[in-house]
Amino acid sequence: MTPEQFRAHGRKVVDWIADYLASVEEHPVRAQVSPGEVRAALPAHPPEHGEPFDAVLADLDRVVLPGITHWQHPSFFAYFPANASGPAMLGDLLSSGLGVQGMLWATSPACTELETVVVDWLAELLDLPSRFRTDERGGGVIQDSASGAAVVALLAARQRAGEGRHRVYVSSQTHSSLEKAARVTGIGAENVRVVDVDPGSLAMDPEHLDRLITEDLAWGFVPTLVCATIGTTSTTAVDPVPRIGEVCRDHGVWLHVDAAYAGVAAVCPEFRWCNDGVAEYADSYVTDPHKWLLTNFDCSVLWLGDRAPMVEALSILPEYLRNAASSSGEVIDYRDWQVPLGRRFRALKLWSVIRWYGAEGLRAHIRRCGDLADRFADLVAADPRFDLDPHHPFGLVCFRPRWPGASQAESDAATTELMERLNDSGELYLSHTRARGHVVLRFAVGSPATEARHIDAAWQRIAAEYDAVMAERKD
Ligand code: PLP
Repeated sequence: MTPEQFRAHGRKVVDWIADYLASVEEHPVRAQVSPGEVRAALPAHPPEHGEPFDAVLADLDRVVLPGITHWQHPSFFAYFPANASGPAMLGDLLSSGLGVQGMLWATSPACTELETVVVDWLAELLDLPSRFRTDERGGGVIQDSASGAAVVALLAARQRAGEGRHRVYVSSQTHSSLEKAARVTGIGAENVRVVDVDPGSLAMDPEHLDRLITEDLAWGFVPTLVCATIGTTSTTAVDPVPRIGEVCRDHGVWLHVDAAYAGVAAVCPEFRWCNDGVAEYADSYVTDPHKWLLTNFDCSVLWLGDRAPMVEALSILPEYLRNAASSSGEVIDYRDWQVPLGRRFRALKLWSVIRWYGAEGLRAHIRRCGDLADRFADLVAADPRFDLDPHHPFGLVCFRPRWPGASQAESDAATTELMERLNDSGELYLSHTRARGHVVLRFAVGSPATEARHIDAAWQRIAAEYDAVMAERKD
C-alpha cells in the first residue's frame, strides 16, 4: 500500500469509525451470534491474490460487526468498562504509523522519554507518592495489563526476598491474575495463601494476614508478596492498605497494591482516600487507564518505589542488544521493566488522552460516571423488589432481586435467568458475581457515552423483566 493509497483508505477507515461511534447505540449491546457463526462466514483459506481494502471494510460490516459486543455502547454495564476515546484512538494510530519498537532507549529515544514523562504526569494526576516518580530509584512503566504488571511485581518481590520457599498472600476477592502470576513465576498456586475477608465489607483482614505470615515464617517459608486491592473485581471492596502495609513492613514483605479499575478515580480529590496507605507502604502499585480513564486497551501503568529488584530480575543483555547509551547508565531501557523484549509506543495514546481532556476533563468523566452510578443505586434502593449493596464507592453498583419464598438455589437460578434474559434482549448488558453466598448482579457505569436516560431505561427494563420472570415462576 503506497502512502497515497493509505491516505485514501485511511480516510475511509476514520469515517467508518466515526459512523460506528455515532450509531453504536443502534446495535444490540451484546453480540447475538452463536458459537462458530463468525468463523463459518469467513473463508477457510487465505487469499492467494491481494484484495482491495474495500473488501475488508465490506466484510467488517457483513461478518465482523454482528459478532461484536459493543463495549462502547452507552448501555454496556457489564464487567468493568474498557473505555475508548477519540484522542486515544488517534494516539494509537500515530503509534502504528510510526511503527516504532521501543525495547531500548536507543531504538527510539522519544518512545522511552515520552513514556517516562507521561507516567510521571499520571502519578501527579493521581497524587501518588513522589517516590513513584521516575528518579534515581522509582518509576512507572506502561504494561499490557494489570495481570502482566502482577507478574513483574512478583518477580521483583521474589528478587528482593532472595532464595527460599516463597509465599504470596491474597484474599478470596483478589483478582485471579495473582494466582496466575504465582503459577507463571514458578512459585506455584500451592504457595498462594488466602487471607480471610471481613464478611460485611469483603475487605482483607489484616490480623489474619499477620497470623498467616507469622505461621509461614515459623515453617521456614519466605513471605514474598502481599496483594492488597483497591476496588476488587467482584464488588469494588477496598482492602485496608494502611493496616496491611504495617503488617508488610513488620515482616519485610513486598506490598503490591492492585487498583486496576478504581485507582484512576484518584484524579478527583474527593476520591483520593482510595490512595490511603499507598504513599507510606506500597512497593508497587498498578492502575489501568484502559479500564476507566478513556484510553483504549492496552494501557496499564505499574509504579515501583524502587525499580532495582525488578531490573535485576528481568535484565539480560545479549551482545546483539549492547549499545553505548545502555552502557552509559544514563538511559532507561524499558525492556528491563517487563517480561517481553519488544514494546509498542503506547505512551502516545495516554499522552493524547491527558492532553486532550486535561486534568479537569478526566475529573469530569469520573465524576459523571460516579453520579450516574449513584442515580442507578437510588433507583434500586427505592424499590422493595431488589436489595442494594450499599457499598458502591466508584462506578459499580451491585444488587440482587428478591425472590420471596424461593430457596437460596432457586433465588440464584432466578437471578441468573433474569440476567440472561436482559442480556439476550440486546438492550443492555450486565454481568454477575457471587458475593456473600448469593448470585449478585453487577452494573458498572463507565462509558463516556452513557447518559441519565440510559440509566433510567436500563432500570425500567430490569424491573419489567423481573416482573416477567416472577410471573412465570408463579405459573
Ligand atoms: N485486578 C483487578 C482488581 C481487576 O478488576 C482486573 C480486571 O478486571 C485485573 C486486575 C486484570 O486486569 P487486566 O485485564 O489489565 O489484566
